[in-house]
Amino acid sequence: MAKRALITGITGQDGSYLAEWLLKQGYEVHGLVRRINATGGTHIEGLCKDPEIFNRRLFLHFAELREASALRRVLADVGADEIYHLAAQSHVGLSFDMAEITCEITAMTTLRLLSILRDLPVGTRFFHASSSEAFGRPIASPQDETTPFNPVNPYGCAKAYATNMARVYRENYHFHISNGILYNHESPRRGENFVTRKISRAAAAIKLGLAKDLVIGSIDAQRDWGHAEDFTRGMWLALQQSEPGDYIFATGKLHSVRDILEIAFNTLGLKWQDFVTQDEKFMRPPELGQLLGNPAKAHQVLNWHPEWTFERMIEQMVRSDFNTLSAQKR
Ligand code: GDP
Repeated sequence: MAKRALITGITGQDGSYLAEWLLKQGYEVHGLVRRINATGGTHIEGLCKDPEIFNRRLFLHFAELREASALRRVLADVGADEIYHLAAQSHVGLSFDMAEITCEITAMTTLRLLSILRDLPVGTRFFHASSSEAFGRPIASPQDETTPFNPVNPYGCAKAYATNMARVYRENYHFHISNGILYNHESPRRGENFVTRKISRAAAAIKLGLAKDLVIGSIDAQRDWGHAEDFTRGMWLALQQSEPGDYIFATGKLHSVRDILEIAFNTLGLKWQDFVTQDEKFMRPPELGQLLGNPAKAHQVLNWHPEWTFERMIEQMVRSDFNTLSAQKR
């Protein structure tokens, strides 16, 4: 019989890549959604329009993440072998303006799901998508699975809480719960307010004459940026192990916003210096310490190795935005 997976956050960047991957592996995939008939414009629109897949191998269920009784009902009905909890309010900047909602969605929903796990069949496996933001101003660099959390924004605090809670439930109840501590991961499906996508879209718009310039924050800011497709494969690998555990998913390489600008504008034969200005508005408080992951454990235990390079990923994003915007222009 096909394995059954349930994904929270299935309409997002990671959820959609994970759904595609699991379907390819022969799974029956169930997704939690906020609005049952509104998948248009989301990243699973294509899957939902495919009569071979939708309601045959892919099923959607309505539940508000804040409604424990609804979550409990869906989880009991679906009877998943593997649960992938990806849903979150994941924008760091926004998390300052909506701190309570961020904690409600990102921290408390994880706790709700963990509590429900107690009443599900023994052996249900659970993956929690944690974040490098839990390391915040990191105590050591690079970070690994043993580095203490030191969050510096509401989103990081919520993720640190949820990750620790997942550990507590794993240790107390001996559940198969794994945390993936995910460093920034991007793709053409990334939200437009994240810096990679903001740049790829702007470069494409400028090339097409649809925009004149791009205003951003710090161009020296650095991150360990990987590709979402690689990361979702890692999530699956984590749940295929006989023992649960925590894993850093990262490339182990730092790049700067300047590197993104170079590659993105070069891809279209442009010089970023001709179009880009900086504004305080997009600056963050000083980032002391580097968010750089050490993925050695994932390499060794999961045999997980990223297939995408940073350059290829940024090029892919720019070309995708260019194609979409030129189609809209026509
Ligand atoms: P985050 O790591 O989850 O906050 O991902 P973002 O893509 O939002 O930001 C990554 C880095 O890019 C951070 O250090 C930001 O300060 C920096 N950055 C510089 N300019 C911008 C900008 O215009 N927008 C965003 N979102 N980030 C920017």
